[in-house]
Amino acid sequence: MKKVYLETFGCQMNVSDSERVATSLAASGFEITSIQDSADIVLINTCSVREKAEQKLYNTVGEIRNSRLVKPVVGVMGCVAQLEGETLFKKIAGIDFVVGTRAVGRVVHAIEKVYDGVEQVSDLGERENDYDWSVNDAQRHSPYVAFVPIIEGCNKFCTYCIVPFSRGREVSLPASTIVRHVLELRRQGAKEIHLIGQNVNSYRPKTDSGMELFHGATPFSRLLRAVAATGIERIKFNTSFPRDFHPDIIDAINENENLCNWVHLPVQSGSDRVLKRMKRGHTIDSYFKKIDKLKDSARDVALTTDIIVGFPGETEADFEDTKRAVEYCGFDMAYIFKYSPRPGTPAFEMEDDVTLGEKKLRFIELERVQKESQNKRLQRYLGKKVEVLAERVSSRSADDITGHSTCHKLVNFQGSKDLIGKLVDVRIREIKSNSLFGEVC
Ligand code: SF4
Repeated sequence: MKKVYLETFGCQMNVSDSERVATSLAASGFEITSIQDSADIVLINTCSVREKAEQKLYNTVGEIRNSRLVKPVVGVMGCVAQLEGETLFKKIAGIDFVVGTRAVGRVVHAIEKVYDGVEQVSDLGERENDYDWSVNDAQRHSPYVAFVPIIEGCNKFCTYCIVPFSRGREVSLPASTIVRHVLELRRQGAKEIHLIGQNVNSYRPKTDSGMELFHGATPFSRLLRAVAATGIERIKFNTSFPRDFHPDIIDAINENENLCNWVHLPVQSGSDRVLKRMKRGHTIDSYFKKIDKLKDSARDVALTTDIIVGFPGETEADFEDTKRAVEYCGFDMAYIFKYSPRPGTPAFEMEDDVTLGEKKLRFIELERVQKESQNKRLQRYLGKKVEVLAERVSSRSADDITGHSTCHKLVNFQGSKDLIGKLVDVRIREIKSNSLFGEVC
């Protein structure tokens, strides 16, 4: 039995792709191993959103080349594979096959070709019509949490982003497929599902007669109600696109207890001038209106975001607008990035005129503003009871259990291992910088 080691970089979509690839490999008689040194095949699922992630591919293949006496078969999948294709064979010695983002259903086929003696196997083709989106529970990253893709690709073409080129145009899965998938996950014991996609709320399936059965203003809010009706304990969704964030999504959350109170809505900048150059399709005022609606909601919805500092042409005044936006919105958490040009994107052609020094200073300053605002925001959890899905023993203390609340906070609490896999009420006793600490109540 050949052993396969799978290394995954990047987003939830990549993790989800890897889980399905592992499922198909296991079904075809391969053994999935967590030990790279003894693997016959090393498969690297790549990300190209940030420079560092791409660099990791170069380093990983280099390490394999230098450290192993008998070289394993090396395959590359994911965004770098899709964008670079066969040029990867020339750029990095030691790669045997390359599989694009929509060809992941044929990884087994590519491996078989390599063992048949075919050199430099490349498959950048389209997804099969009968592609199986399900994941064997043994291959999931958690027995209790599952990722469920609902839309892949992106049509938005934000000027800094490579995703529309690496993942292709938006394709939504039929609602009936998604609902069936969730029901199956529930049967397997999953407690929490994450509906995932580059822009989940742009969900727009071509044909799905079942959709009319459900009330709601947009296909995504109808889908949310349909998934909520499966009775699965918790539903989260990620990522949302501000322009397509319809108020009916908030109504759906308010109506269904199992739709969790967490929304990730990337603002990217607080300046209309920069948002326009980024081609985000929203203004800061339209974003604020959505935030106001979320804050007025009956549920205490935790809001998180992504922000880029130092985008080409960003002035001090633009940056001040971003600081004001952070203060206004009161994010529970923000991922802040320093802009770095990605080849192949429209922004790559713009002058990268904010110096690295300025980017660093803006990053530090924005992080300070966010932390200050975050610390104030998180105080609202102190003394409160939150429901936590107990996921595993904490890596820091064998006495503690780690899990996530419905507002997607990392929560640690003292408790027995028997609680793992259960929904536990925890009283929050301490607010830490990136987590909460409490006790079972
Ligand atoms: S919405 Fe913009 S940032 Fe998000 S994946 Fe699409 S192009 Fe990239």
